[in-house]
Amino acid sequence: MRKDFLVFGSPIIEQAEIDEVVASMKSCWIGTGPKVHQFEQMFGEYKGCRHAIALNSCTAALHLSMLSIGIEPGDEVIVPSMTFAATANAVIHAGGKPVFADCLKNAMTIDPEDVRRKVTPKTKAIIPIHFAGRMCDMDAIMQIAKEKNIKVIEDCAHAIESEYKGRKAGMIGDLGCFSFYVTKNVMTGQGGMVITESEDYAKQIKILALHGLSHDAWKRFSDSGYKHYQVVYAGFKYNMTDMEAAIGIHQLPRIDRYWKRRETIWRRYQEAFEDLPVFRPPEAESGTRHAYHLYPLFLDLDRIQITRDDFLEEMTKRKIGVGVHYLALHLSPFYQEKFGYRSGDFPNSEWISERTVSIPLSAKLTDEDVQDVIEAVTSVLAQEK
Ligand SMILES: *Cc1c(COP(=O)(O)O)cnc(C)c1O
Repeated sequence: MRKDFLVFGSPIIEQAEIDEVVASMKSCWIGTGPKVHQFEQMFGEYKGCRHAIALNSCTAALHLSMLSIGIEPGDEVIVPSMTFAATANAVIHAGGKPVFADCLKNAMTIDPEDVRRKVTPKTKAIIPIHFAGRMCDMDAIMQIAKEKNIKVIEDCAHAIESEYKGRKAGMIGDLGCFSFYVTKNVMTGQGGMVITESEDYAKQIKILALHGLSHDAWKRFSDSGYKHYQVVYAGFKYNMTDMEAAIGIHQLPRIDRYWKRRETIWRRYQEAFEDLPVFRPPEAESGTRHAYHLYPLFLDLDRIQITRDDFLEEMTKRKIGVGVHYLALHLSPFYQEKFGYRSGDFPNSEWISERTVSIPLSAKLTDEDVQDVIEAVTSVLAQEK
């Protein structure tokens, strides 16, 4: 067995970002400053978008996206039940009501047919999640949005590198939200970005992200001299800092190198698990690019003796970090009590909730690490109870 515990989602941190963070500290400009702007510019160039606004999380990006499109109490926003809590909570923080939709069983992305069934006159937006890095059926979703005159906010937390028919993730809907949390494909520790082609949304989001102060208030202590600002909204404290951007400006140029490494690992897993009692993720849909953020395996519970939670425990015993993405949100007590959801409401999400496990897929994994993961999965699944 391996000596050290293989931490799930551990990032690569190279010398350049360490030096850059130290340089930021030595310069004493550790708040929002030139490095945040450089990172925004770099990200905007990577995406080819007009506006890229750095924030302190994807959660903040989702929340401000909701506010910028004018979500108000009573408005409904359709989100998949199969997502991270932040997606639904952002709707609630804006005063709206998250209305869950089921996902497709194999792809794990939101089911456009179920989205269509969930649209009501109160529906103001849809938040598709490009799950694990796999693009949602955006043609179908954009078609519904167009017919019903509702906005689309893409949750791209898993999907920085994803593409759909030649278009980049986050550029298809009205706004795209990204995460640079430690486990994500590009990381800054904590961090997020929102992108949009709309000048209007971009302006509002910049103001909302910094206490609701009038434009460019972050410059108030810079060498251009103190400038008065006004409060135009009861805003939030969501700005990214130069300490975080210092990491991002070195991570982002390596995005393709890291992607290629994850793709190689993903392929090795696909081959290695072919004959095991599991359902492997389908290949990327044609015309799309997968970001390979997660490698979710569904255990074939009819063919094995152990439960999914036993599997997690056994992997941990073998010093392999694992995750579950996710337990469907409508099974959590909060959403059940607040919105009346029940087990049985979303069959595909529940099927996945019971079976899914995510095994390590970070670019940091060595060939030996990957081999250890493969051996651990194989031996756990060979085990009789
Ligand atoms: C990680 C994640 C978020 C939240 O990102 P933060 O930057 O941690 O706020 C939102 N949605 C999904 C699907 C995520 O995986």
